[in-house]
Amino acid sequence: MSTFQAPKGTYDLIPPESAKYLAVREAIAAPLRNSGYGYIETPGFENVELFARGVGESTDIVTKEMYAFETKGGDQLALRPEGTASVLRAALEANLHKLGNLPVKLWYSGSYYRYERPQKGRYRHFSQVGAEAIGAEDPALDAELIILADQAYRSLGLRNFRILLNSLGDKECRPVYREALQTFLRGLDLDEETLRRADINPLRVLDDKRPDVQKQLTDAPLLRDYLCDACKAYHEEVRELITAAGVAFEDDPKLVRGLDYYTRTTFEFVHDGLGSQSAVGGGGRYDGLSEMIGGPALPSVGWALGVDRTVLALEAEGVELQLPALTSVFAVPLGEEARRVLFAKVTELRKLGIAADFSYGAKGLKGAMKNANRSGARYTIVAGERDLAEGVVQLKDMESGDQTAVGVNEIVAELESKLG
Ligand code: AMP
Repeated sequence: MSTFQAPKGTYDLIPPESAKYLAVREAIAAPLRNSGYGYIETPGFENVELFARGVGESTDIVTKEMYAFETKGGDQLALRPEGTASVLRAALEANLHKLGNLPVKLWYSGSYYRYERPQKGRYRHFSQVGAEAIGAEDPALDAELIILADQAYRSLGLRNFRILLNSLGDKECRPVYREALQTFLRGLDLDEETLRRADINPLRVLDDKRPDVQKQLTDAPLLRDYLCDACKAYHEEVRELITAAGVAFEDDPKLVRGLDYYTRTTFEFVHDGLGSQSAVGGGGRYDGLSEMIGGPALPSVGWALGVDRTVLALEAEGVELQLPALTSVFAVPLGEEARRVLFAKVTELRKLGIAADFSYGAKGLKGAMKNANRSGARYTIVAGERDLAEGVVQLKDMESGDQTAVGVNEIVAELESKLG
């Protein structure tokens, strides 16, 4: 193993590619910032108990995929495998729910860790941008989040994604369905492990990707037929609000998610160009989570969109993001005096918000111009002793190749008006 190799299942974001990730994070955050969501940041690790209780002790995420460890001081911690439990924990700790302004709307962006079998679109370290609306039961809130995620993807230029929508019921109707599903599953030809899962968490079996299992599930009872009147009405209202907003979705009565805390509204964004790891984002309502981690009843809803898979989706659709130029002006000084003069000009340009860079290190003209080319700069300013003696610098248009002399005192204003 080389010292320079990133750990298995991880990769580095490196320029120029890394600019895409920044742009994706920005694009997902923009509609949230515009809709009353405040930024929250929580630690990269939490007490392991939080995830065990929150995400669910029978989920793959907690039993197989969590990076859990004991610290030198004996604390049992885990790298966060997802964002919701941490954000809710932080909101409860800061008593945000008691400030009288419910729902508390928060957004976040960060790294998450799951010990998964790595493949394209599935990593051990990945990043998500997420949103949580804590402390209100209102179908308009569920609709808002779905609409904002749709808006985020569309603003990036994505088109080939679909929204899958389902309701998982609540503590009234889900247990009845659970029983019915369990009875059905026990009659199937399933392996030991799957039967065990049917006992602990039967809904998860619906999510089994194996064709021989899926084939047996064709006649499985659907939660849809077991929803209580309150859940049915709630779900209908969410559907109507999203439809009225012009956001298309598909009802997916078998959609369950890999986390135990979901109730009622659940949804997933899938992209058809991604192969097996097609979920680019997902979320739903988690009315019971606060109580599961020891807090008061706080019905809430949220989502998390995967940044890595969103970038893959952009590539699959051939979308080129309009990224701002890294460097608009590149300065090439020839000689000591020119260094001082041009360095000052670069500083001035930067203060005006113009992206400017400088040829560092003692380089000849040829090497410096190569750097100017590679920088992607629209303009290069070159100055030698003779230019400065005449009170000018050479302004080179890197697209046309044209070069003109511009007064040392005029060059900044000239570039400002050109780059306008
Ligand atoms: P989840 O918390 O499992 O609902 O995941 C939400 C989103 O995060 C998914 O739709 C993916 O886009 C992304 N995601 C989850 N796990 C991974 C992973 N191992 N690698 C890359 N992206 C992931």
